[in-house]
Amino acid sequence: MLSYRHAFHAGNHADVLKHLVMLQLLDYLTQKDKPLYVVDTHAGAGAYDLKSDYARKLAEFQGGIGRLWNLPAEQLPPALADYVSRVRDFNGDGALNHYPGSPWLAWKALRDIDRLRLYELHSTDSRLLASNFQEAGRQVQVHAGDGLAGMKAQLPPPSRRGLVLIDPSYEVKTDYQEIIRALQDALKRFSTGTYAIWYPCLNRPESRQFPDKLKRLPAKDWLHVALHVRAADADGFGMAGSGMFILNPPWTLAAAMKEVLPVLVQHLAEEGDAGKGARFILESGEGGSLGDTPVRPERVRPTVFNPRNSGAVPGKTPQRPGRPAGKPGNPPQTPRNPAATPRPPRKGPGGRSGA
Ligand code: SAM
Repeated sequence: MLSYRHAFHAGNHADVLKHLVMLQLLDYLTQKDKPLYVVDTHAGAGAYDLKSDYARKLAEFQGGIGRLWNLPAEQLPPALADYVSRVRDFNGDGALNHYPGSPWLAWKALRDIDRLRLYELHSTDSRLLASNFQEAGRQVQVHAGDGLAGMKAQLPPPSRRGLVLIDPSYEVKTDYQEIIRALQDALKRFSTGTYAIWYPCLNRPESRQFPDKLKRLPAKDWLHVALHVRAADADGFGMAGSGMFILNPPWTLAAAMKEVLPVLVQHLAEEGDAGKGARFILESGEGGSLGDTPVRPERVRPTVFNPRNSGAVPGKTPQRPGRPAGKPGNPPQTPRNPAATPRPPRKGPGGRSGA
């Protein structure tokens, strides 16, 4: 039984990193004049009301999109300015009252020839998602079901051009292994696809070892970014950072992230951290051969950038303490239904926000 509800966490630092990277991927992948298929395996509700009891309970968005909302666009790197402007599009009226989920951000970035396939297992959120996209037409399909099985069914896409976003709640530790297995299968079906996997940086073996396992998958190459907004908690709880791991990334992504990550550290570092623990990782390399032959370390040539020249060691994922169970904490008890999300300006899905 699923208990994670993204409405408690929408717009936090992890969403900022994930959505910014996803938009950069879409920006590149929609340049070619061929249909792109986007599969969002863990779609959530698609839209979130930041004034709802859910969002206000932890107010995580205040440490994420809330910190970026009022920054002058001209002072931001283009990729960050683009991300903030898309969240602004979703709000429409100038105030930060709503946050778009990955499905809405992806949909807005697509062209008419592209297709979006959404999967959500939680019954309430899948109903909200379907409601939010009821007017989207044939371009978007919403499936109330398992996203990893859905990915298998969707690959390879007819156009042989595709992006898969994998953003689970990691409620059970076997999620990590299941993702590796599903990606091994996906790469056999569709080796040239781009796969973007979000993960929480937690002080648990399955989380710490996850990037290294992803590096050994038989993709052509990979890019790994992680953003830590504070030092690890002494008690080992809480999510101080998160990462995005991209298999077969566009060549443009590393340069864009090199510009953006120091700015994210600057603005999203938690107050009181005094620059001690907040940092980023940016590394890249060639794919491995997990499940076939042993990994050849010489094929992996990661480079790590750190604004303070400290912390991250090339090729190593730092160990971050965290809450034992997955994403930013077990959700609090579900409050009453959230308020309605206004219909976003242009081709936005109407309907209710997730909770
Ligand atoms: N991708 C969304 C976004 O960025 O707006 C957030 C998704 S949230 C982090 C993870 C979602 O995965 C939750 O809504 C959860 O119910 C859903 N979920 C968990 N296991 C799943 C599965 N096996 N298949 C599909 N969805 C699943």
